[in-house]
Amino acid sequence: MILEQNITQLPGVGPKMAKTLEKLHIHTIQDLIFHLPYRYQDRTRLVPIEALRIGDTAIVEARVVKKELSQGKRKYLTVWIKDGTGLMMLKFFNFNSGMLKTFDDDGLIRAFGEVKKGYPYLEMVHPEFKALHENIPVEERLTPIYPLTAGLTQKQIRSIMASAMKLITPDSFPSFVSQKYSLSEALHYLHNPPPDADLFQLSEGLHPWQKALALEEILAYQLALSRAREQESQKESIPIKLSFDAEKTLLSALPYKLTNAQNRVIAEIKEDLMQDKPMMRLVQGDVGSGKTIVATVALLHVAMMKQQAIMIAPTELLAEQHYLTISKLLTPLGISVTFLSGGLTAKEKRIRGEAIKNGEAQVIVGTHATFQESVEYSSLALVIVDEQHRFGVEQRLALQEKNQLQQPHFLMMTATPIPRTLAMIAYADLKHSIIDEKPANRIPITTTLVNHQKRDQLISRLALQCAEGVQAYWVCTLIESNETLTAQAAEESHHLLEESLPDLRIGLLHGKMKPKDKESIMQSFKNHELDVLVATTVIEVGVDVPNASIMIIENAERLGLFQLHQLRGRVGRGSKASFCLLMYEPPLSQVAQERLRILQQTEDGFVIAEKDLELRGTGEIIGTKQTGEVTFKVANIFQHKDIIEKAQKMVPKLLDNDEIVNGLIKRWLNHRTQFIHV
Ligand code: ADP
Ligand code: MG
Repeated sequence: MILEQNITQLPGVGPKMAKTLEKLHIHTIQDLIFHLPYRYQDRTRLVPIEALRIGDTAIVEARVVKKELSQGKRKYLTVWIKDGTGLMMLKFFNFNSGMLKTFDDDGLIRAFGEVKKGYPYLEMVHPEFKALHENIPVEERLTPIYPLTAGLTQKQIRSIMASAMKLITPDSFPSFVSQKYSLSEALHYLHNPPPDADLFQLSEGLHPWQKALALEEILAYQLALSRAREQESQKESIPIKLSFDAEKTLLSALPYKLTNAQNRVIAEIKEDLMQDKPMMRLVQGDVGSGKTIVATVALLHVAMMKQQAIMIAPTELLAEQHYLTISKLLTPLGISVTFLSGGLTAKEKRIRGEAIKNGEAQVIVGTHATFQESVEYSSLALVIVDEQHRFGVEQRLALQEKNQLQQPHFLMMTATPIPRTLAMIAYADLKHSIIDEKPANRIPITTTLVNHQKRDQLISRLALQCAEGVQAYWVCTLIESNETLTAQAAEESHHLLEESLPDLRIGLLHGKMKPKDKESIMQSFKNHELDVLVATTVIEVGVDVPNASIMIIENAERLGLFQLHQLRGRVGRGSKASFCLLMYEPPLSQVAQERLRILQQTEDGFVIAEKDLELRGTGEIIGTKQTGEVTFKVANIFQHKDIIEKAQKMVPKLLDNDEIVNGLIKRWLNHRTQFIHV
């Protein structure tokens, strides 16, 4: 079928565009067609200036009255325009000489943008605009706005979408769920809604067509994961006999007692490990709730059975830290712990690979390098993935593919609390354990906003604190997702701090450094040979230095809510009062203000995760670190709660119908299914 062909079969899509579209998981023409708008604009009606309201997004047509360049430091262009009903202004902070010419006196302009309060008239800042030399009709349909990725514009995707839509016929897509509607019709409508469509309903995802598609999409996920679970349960695993003495020795060596929640989750895991079916479990526990020791107990029992276990971390830094923690705990019990990462030399990798193959290495801690194809295990019985929010559904399913005669037990750990509705769609293949209690000695973290102009005051306070033995993180945030630029910014901050704080020992850590250097810096910070660690967000995940009690984040407004929560979670780990100082550069957007306010109000990761998802919406920016691993095309875990529940009830009835299951999975999560053997 033409729709299943590669996207390059469409006119105007070359190899370069195909590569760009791949980032949005679009490979075939059908994938493109199921890439739906996440919002719409109404450009079908001209609005008289008099009828504009602040906050409207509207299209106006008016004549240029005059234009003016401001004389201040920051030059900007103001254009006054007028229609039969009133006057308004257009403002441009970036402009070129071509634009100046466009705004000829008395020229007719059509402008589209958000209406803001200006002085003395309403204004649009950086509207889209066009000079009209003749009468061009307005759009006939609502304008779709698609999720994009770098290298792709709305105009481009609209144009290729138009050629793709020409290929669908009324029976291109059988309706698996309900015979009441035609999928082709729904798709036509959603890519190009008529002018009388209910814009509000559409932008809330509540149009009947959207709901019908959402039901299909949610079902596809649930069915795929149910299948995965079904397949898992048919596989065999090595039942682990528990080593109570060794566990006792391990726990009694700890400087603390486990919390009740930790004990409960450990018991749940041990119960699973004893079975001859693979464990499939997800442990959720907020930052600092003590997940590492829970994992270590599982590793211990497997290693004591002379089986192998791996622990995978999302970054080298975290992997190294886990290696240090875990080997310190397990080596005294006679267990050999090995570190493996992509950063090792080929020779080191070979030596360690050898030890893994012949079974000498019992516990292997590392990055994703641990499950690359070249690594062979002698008898792998347990896989633990830490901070799973960095591991997508894809990776999770791929891990299960590392197929052995025996299927390893499987444990995931995450600090990201997963809303129940999301869990029902995206984690339906896992049993859940929750560490809902923090170690008792923790003191709440005080979170404060600091205008970046008060940087000097902040630095002198930092000096006083460090003189008293406190350690601090100073985090530089990502600049336009560019790691090189961000590393430079960190170097600069490091330099400035060294100059203003000559008595302090200040270290630097960023993603562009060699793994060895990162490791040694981290180690010196841990040993308190450094007072301040200037770092990029590489330290975001899992880093654990209990004596560090101050977290300073530059340009906190650039980060997402949950990322900030993760960073803040680096402090408040010891028994000292901790502080998190969020530096920002005004003016803050409304969403940024809201994010920072929520952080000040709560330390509860669950609340923060829910708010985070709400503020971001789903699907807005795909493919960035912020988005987490699950992006739906139409489904929205907030707006479609009832549909999620409905789908949940339908799953058992559909599960045995191969045609429907395969059809839905192929339609909605094609790029993910290569990992599921349907
Ligand atoms: P996370 O859940 O964020 O991975 P970690 O496992 O890194 O948390 O633990 C955070 C810190 O708390 C570590 O320094 C760890 O030694 C300590 N810790 C873990 N469990 C307890 C406990 N029950 N009581 C006191 N401290 C604990
Ligand atoms: Mg952790």
